[in-house]
Amino acid sequence: METTRTGLGRTLQLHRFWQAVEKGVTLERALEIALGSPFPRKTESVLLEDAAGRLLAKDLASKVDDPRFDNSAMDGWAVRKANCKDTGSILRIVGTSQAGSSTTPSVGKGEACRIMTGAPLPEGADSIVMIEDSSTEGERVTINGPARTEYIRKKGENLVSGAIALVAGSLLTPAATSLAATMGHSELEVVSKPKIAVIGVGDELTPPGEPLADGAIYESNTYGIASLVRKMGGSPVRFEIIQDTTELLREALDEAAESCDAIITSGGVSMGEWDIVRILMEAEGDIGFWKIMMRPGGPPLFGTWKGTPVFGLPGNPVSSHVVFTVLVSQWISKCMGADLVSGPRMANRVRVIMEEPLKGAPGKLCFRRISIRQEGDSLVGSTSTHQGSGNIHSMVAHNALSLLPPDTDSRIGATIDALWLI
Ligand code: AMP
Ligand code: MG
Repeated sequence: METTRTGLGRTLQLHRFWQAVEKGVTLERALEIALGSPFPRKTESVLLEDAAGRLLAKDLASKVDDPRFDNSAMDGWAVRKANCKDTGSILRIVGTSQAGSSTTPSVGKGEACRIMTGAPLPEGADSIVMIEDSSTEGERVTINGPARTEYIRKKGENLVSGAIALVAGSLLTPAATSLAATMGHSELEVVSKPKIAVIGVGDELTPPGEPLADGAIYESNTYGIASLVRKMGGSPVRFEIIQDTTELLREALDEAAESCDAIITSGGVSMGEWDIVRILMEAEGDIGFWKIMMRPGGPPLFGTWKGTPVFGLPGNPVSSHVVFTVLVSQWISKCMGADLVSGPRMANRVRVIMEEPLKGAPGKLCFRRISIRQEGDSLVGSTSTHQGSGNIHSMVAHNALSLLPPDTDSRIGATIDALWLI
């Protein structure tokens, strides 16, 4: 939106702010609002060998039948089933069908062709006998076991030429990459990695490794957030730490809006007079929502700065991590066009039996950090460390987040929903 700084412009903006900004929204609503301002989806072509971990941009059709021809699933003998009814049948060996051979002898009555796994089925044969079920002597083979049609892999039984086996928005997992190769593709059209600016804001923040002045702490969020962005298929651009001054923040946001597809800030979104991300976004940006009914991670905002989407995440390390996990990750996924089933995700939703009581939050969806382990047929949840939103160790010492509905505590033995982090 236009950001005139005249008195009138500012009045209009404040007026618009109070009208348009939704405050204290649910997580679902937060996602809906953020999806109203997606980053543009771009695509590019990459070599298959560089495609692993990327998101497929277009449905992919097979260029071939898979298998390309009827072939053997076993090392053994290609035979006519009718000739192997009796144990001890003796057949005449007519030759060998090897994987890769283009011509194979045909199998007639009373004959057998030696065959390797993956080799084409000779003309005239309708079954395979496993090598283990045979013995040979010169040009003759004695069949001591069953001749099975099931040991033949039929042409096109996995895929027929033209079939779409990988849909647009699929994550190119190792198996998907292998499948793309099976289908004959050497290059794939993938979704371009969105460039996402990651900006840490706070006077107290010092890069790790540097001497700490009194009252200073090591800056950690931009490292965590950048790595989360990477995990979701984005390309993070970490900016220098911004002091709590609107001038510096404005410059950084301008640069980020110019050079990146989206912006994530950390810190400075609460109620305080030094919470300059909120203050600057209110005055000169365009805010969609402020505050989500969740704990931890209540204070975030979403809006745009000169048209570029901005997530203002809270400074508390657990809060920013959790908000990314449950909200920003989904937004990135959807903006990139990820498939719901085969796209990337940060967690699987599961049901867990709690070993300990868990305290929920009044009016808020509560994400306590828990550890999930398998015990017999059940998933069991427990907690170990201090749960404060400043304690990033709690995200390392646990592997999941509770999904306690607003105003709900959980007692020992209760079954709750949880997000098992990947
Ligand atoms: P804020 O949201 O700016 O009020 O910050 C909340 C808490 O998070 C404060 O204790 C900050 O020192 C801390 N914090 C803010 N930004 C970061 C960061 N980038 N890395 C580590 N801690 C931070
Ligand atoms: Mg701060």
